[in-house]
Amino acid sequence: MNNEKPTHFIHEMIEADLKSGRYQSVRTRFPPEPNGYLHIGHAKSIVLNFGTAKKYGGQCNLRFDDTNPTKEEVEYVESIQEDIRWLGYEWDELRFASDYFDQLYAWAVQLIKEGKAYVDDLSQEEIRQYRGTLTEPGRNSPYRDRSVEENLDLFERMKNGEFPDGSKVLRAKIDMASPNLNLRDPVMYRILHARHHRTGDQWCIYPMYDWAHGQSDAIEGISHSLCTLEFENHRPLYEWFLDNLPIAHKPRQIEFARLNLTYTVLSKRRLIRLVKEGHVRGWDDPRMPTLAGLRRRGVPPAAIRNFCEAIGVAKANSTIDLALFEYHIRQELNRIAERRMAVLDPVKVVITNYPEGQVEWLEAINNPEDESAGTRKIPFTRELYIERDDFREVRPNKKYHRLSIGHEVRLRYGYFIKAESVVKDEAGNILEIHCTYDPETRGGYAPDGRKVRGTIHWVSAPHAIDAEVRLYDRLFTVPDPRSEADKDFTEFINPNSLTVLTGCKLEPDLAAAAAGTHYQFERKGYFFLDPDSQPGRPVFNRTITLRDTWSKIAKSLGQK
Ligand code: ATP
Ligand code: MG
Repeated sequence: MNNEKPTHFIHEMIEADLKSGRYQSVRTRFPPEPNGYLHIGHAKSIVLNFGTAKKYGGQCNLRFDDTNPTKEEVEYVESIQEDIRWLGYEWDELRFASDYFDQLYAWAVQLIKEGKAYVDDLSQEEIRQYRGTLTEPGRNSPYRDRSVEENLDLFERMKNGEFPDGSKVLRAKIDMASPNLNLRDPVMYRILHARHHRTGDQWCIYPMYDWAHGQSDAIEGISHSLCTLEFENHRPLYEWFLDNLPIAHKPRQIEFARLNLTYTVLSKRRLIRLVKEGHVRGWDDPRMPTLAGLRRRGVPPAAIRNFCEAIGVAKANSTIDLALFEYHIRQELNRIAERRMAVLDPVKVVITNYPEGQVEWLEAINNPEDESAGTRKIPFTRELYIERDDFREVRPNKKYHRLSIGHEVRLRYGYFIKAESVVKDEAGNILEIHCTYDPETRGGYAPDGRKVRGTIHWVSAPHAIDAEVRLYDRLFTVPDPRSEADKDFTEFINPNSLTVLTGCKLEPDLAAAAAGTHYQFERKGYFFLDPDSQPGRPVFNRTITLRDTWSKIAKSLGQK
């Protein structure tokens, strides 16, 4: 066991359990339902479960909670494994709740034999009516007192496929007057004539979450079953099942607050709609909060892990500012990204006093945060591209330090240049900026000590490669898109969440850009190669801007 102090209440509870001997070792599990792709909320649970097992020298299983065959697909089973590995974790054992269908069935028969479960013919709607409310007790179903023999017979016939969907359920016989609604004879099995992605047509009755989950934990020897707060009211039921079955090992359920993020929806139900209704291009659209989307966008897995560690684990629900996640993305990218120059909205510069045909190879630093990343050579020639936005014909004010006619600017790693004139088309658009350069300023310093405040990036025109660049903004325009009851969350989708730029000019080194390498395009943000790239036609996603422009905009609008 490691000696670090527990950092949150779950680790405190675990340490107390180890000390008291309630458990000899720690075993956790991450239990996704394979009905969608994992999102950043799941990452919080993954980091907690795998991180806890690691911290205490224990084990963590991946268990698919595959008890709902109508919504589950093999595609999801595969993507979930890929995403967990990408995040940096490896499970000790891969399990499926469906591995335990036989055992669960046998235990259900045992509860029936002990008079603790019964077959009910009430419809779903009737069951709801009989259940009562928080202030009123429920009523017993007229089928509650069936004999053990009759229940055994009906349950077996349910399993054998003799009854249609929805006609019968198996319920635990607990207490219809319990103040906890979950204990008012909860449903254990429903009839569902549906093909399961692993068990095929073997079963037509499927266990409910509450019946499957705790027993699966027990079978796997899980010590601490960590789940989100909405299951707090289910804990008495979790314990009732374990107490009423011949199970020696009793896992302990502990609840924590789920992650909510501003400007983001984190429920598979809503994420599925974004995909199916075509609001985004797929589960891995870089605007999605899915792990697949974040990966494609270029968010490094360490940034997600660091964010999850930083927000910690608490018992009270709260919403985390997206800016905090973005902070961790920038922190990590600043550390690892390779710097390059890229001009996203190019305008041509001609240096009239620079020799035609001459190429100088200037040395540029790959990553100032990491000396081992080394340097590279970038070509400098008479014709360059700079950002259209880095030039004004007339200097607008004294604080403007970029290029303007009659004023000098420093080209990154290059020379001082001064704009002299422009060439325009008939509509008045600038086609070329004619400049002169000072040959004495190579490397960016003037021997006479004269000062130039602005430094801009550039690429050599004859060497530049063309690229498409995709810029992303927040997918929603409001901090909580679910907040307005009379509006659907899709009404708050940001119509400008994607901007596609074509004809961007990149320094030639990026022709060999590698998938998986994180880049900083100087002054423009962090970028990542998209799988849509073709040989000779790279496509880059902007992962994030260099600075948090949003909080500034929000401040100027008087928002928080
Ligand atoms: P969703 O609400 O997105 O459909 P879910 O809870 O139905 O999520 P599961 O596949 O059942 O998804 O989740 C697997 C595990 O991840 C569960 O233990 C669940 O509590 C946890 N989890 C899901 N969403 C979050 C979240 N936003 N924050 C923390 N943990 C989460
Ligand atoms: Mg769930």
